[in-house]
Amino acid sequence: MNKRVYSGIRATGRLHLGNYFGAVKGMLELQDNYDCIFSVVDLHTITVPYDPSTLQSSVREIIIDYLAAGLDPNKCKIEIQSMVPQHTELAYLLSTIYPVSRLEDLPTYKEKKAQYPKYINMGLLYYPVLMAADVLLYKGELVPVGIDQEPHLEVMREIARKFNSMFGQTFPEPQRFKTNGDYVPSLVGAGKMSKSINGSFINLTDDLKTIRKRLAYAPTDSGLIGGNVPETGGVANLFKLLKLFKLDKEYNKFEQDYRDKKIRYSELKDVLAEAIFKELQPFQAKRKEFINNPKLVDLIIIEGQKKCIQIVEQTIKEVRKKMGLT
Ligand code: ADP
Repeated sequence: MNKRVYSGIRATGRLHLGNYFGAVKGMLELQDNYDCIFSVVDLHTITVPYDPSTLQSSVREIIIDYLAAGLDPNKCKIEIQSMVPQHTELAYLLSTIYPVSRLEDLPTYKEKKAQYPKYINMGLLYYPVLMAADVLLYKGELVPVGIDQEPHLEVMREIARKFNSMFGQTFPEPQRFKTNGDYVPSLVGAGKMSKSINGSFINLTDDLKTIRKRLAYAPTDSGLIGGNVPETGGVANLFKLLKLFKLDKEYNKFEQDYRDKKIRYSELKDVLAEAIFKELQPFQAKRKEFINNPKLVDLIIIEGQKKCIQIVEQTIKEVRKKMGLT
């Protein structure tokens, strides 16, 4: 049997370039040769403040984004996490063998606590356990996600090892599948591009005007500094984006301009905006096709659920038996 692959994206907003390069590109690469399950992880979505009245439509938007980006239901299984209730059952079972102190120490938990100081909930702390359950439920071995998820992968492996040593060999130890763009920088000058940080992202559905507008806000400097291009900050991030979009010739030109203290950031941003829009055009055209065919999208969701439940029922049965619950 081919190796199992699992990955998911939260329904916290529209997909952006970070999700595309860090996760979706890896999914596309793997779907031809592996047994893949790709999910919209709505149960993770509700760990931060959200609007219940729009959650359903946000989930559907991500499904449509997946399909428009090229995920093919004939090659992979597409899942909505909460439609497969075994995720929460396994998460609970796994939580009984994992220390709370380790979860409290995770950088992702600390970041979220700082971001939403009035919304620190059990689900947030529990996030990595549910994520471990997501992948282990399918006995996933490869996980195409961005580098920000590495601490969660480590938890996943620890849980798998602990379970195996306590109850007998059951789970593989999943590894991250790395893509070229596994860390797309934010447009605000620091940190990663993220749906939940305003001004940090470019959405896959953005038109040229919007892309230009978003880039216009990205911080730069006076252009009169000279020397090497800095390694961090707004200017560094714009150069990183040039690389990501394979604008090597332009990169070299602007690098030279920077050294010569004659760089024009408006020109750089314009070149970048055009390249980003060009890359996104096929996605945007395909997206329209799926929007116009809601019945097909419904069918893909229902078929995905059926196929996924068949697989995970076996895992849950095995886990319950090994833990002495049946
Ligand atoms: P977000 O932080 O935008 O809400 P998610 O937490 O839903 O994104 O992550 C979905 C996937 O996209 C994960 O695999 C994550 O690693 C990847 N990802 C998110 N942001 C970036 C980024 N800036 N660069 C690379 N990959 C990213």
